[in-house]
Amino acid sequence: MYWNQSKSGVYTVKTGYVVAKEGRDNIDNRLVHNSDTSWEIRKHTVWKKLWSLNIKLKLKHFLSRCLQNGQATNEAIHHRIGKGSVWCHGCGEGTETIEHIFFFCPKAQLVWRLAPVRWDGLVELQCNMWRWWEAVVDSAGEANGAERIQLTVNVFWQLWKARNKMVFQMENVDAKAIVDKAQLEWLEYIAANETDHQTHASLEMEVHVPQHWEPPKEGIMRINTDAAISAKMVRTGLGIIARNWHGQIVKAQGIIGKRRSDVATEESLAIRGALEMAQFAGWTKIEVQSDCKNIVSSINSGNVQDCKLQTILEDIEALKNSFDSCLFSFVPRTVNACSHALAQFAVRSVRNFEWEDLFPIWLSQLASKNMG
Ligand SMILES: [Zn+2]
Repeated sequence: MYWNQSKSGVYTVKTGYVVAKEGRDNIDNRLVHNSDTSWEIRKHTVWKKLWSLNIKLKLKHFLSRCLQNGQATNEAIHHRIGKGSVWCHGCGEGTETIEHIFFFCPKAQLVWRLAPVRWDGLVELQCNMWRWWEAVVDSAGEANGAERIQLTVNVFWQLWKARNKMVFQMENVDAKAIVDKAQLEWLEYIAANETDHQTHASLEMEVHVPQHWEPPKEGIMRINTDAAISAKMVRTGLGIIARNWHGQIVKAQGIIGKRRSDVATEESLAIRGALEMAQFAGWTKIEVQSDCKNIVSSINSGNVQDCKLQTILEDIEALKNSFDSCLFSFVPRTVNACSHALAQFAVRSVRNFEWEDLFPIWLSQLASKNMG
């Protein structure tokens, strides 16, 4: 190993000092070149690992600036614009480099004594943030490596925030508070991520196929729709049933058609029929359910794949906007049993029907059975 800045290739105290002092603008200069591993590969590895860390994006950007000497430390500012003091606002004892803020300032040293993460083996590398970090990254595979690294970045972040508080607000944040805040934010991030996973898991579990019809929320009218087609009799039947949040049937309707048709058309007509029923009755908040997945997703996405349906879907869109709230959802056949039975009833009927207040026994029984 040698310092490449020395012409002779021999390390001298003076050369080392020059490197440490002048090498701050350029990470290339910050490295001790090693004949075994190419600098490019090492650089690539460090960046790749940095961006794959399980920490807030904000912290990744922060750390990347620290490694490239991009943080506005007094020393960096002075170097760039040739003005201002280079001294640390905290202790007044050293040049404020990123290494000073993170390692050498008495405040930083106290923080690392209190912090639940220690890097005692890397003390020798502290004069060069890049090299120090590279060694930290190399330890990622060790026990709790990833967590130790996450926590470390949080400590740096809080040290930097405390530094800014001091510089801009003349406010002193004590070492204990810095450590506590770093640990707290780290734990919160971990917890939030775990909750995310749990939420995903429970969402997946909730996607189980419901077997029963469930009443809507208070104030909302739920309308289930279905269609039946009898090719043999050249008949169609639409079944529409509205129930309130108590699960009581409010209105039921059957609409017959004497024509050949296809399922998608009839299912769309049933949904349009539901909206017309609701508009006529003066309901303002409704939820329409259908067991035809394609139509429901066409309505919800506003995406019409079938031109034949265009006119009906446009009617639905127009009607939808006349309600305070109007939602469409897909439900399996089992949940849609009442409107299914109504559609079957309609396809065998000779005329349309509409029931209000009084309902056939079979429908009332089916509705209460359907609620589970
Ligand atoms: Zn200091």
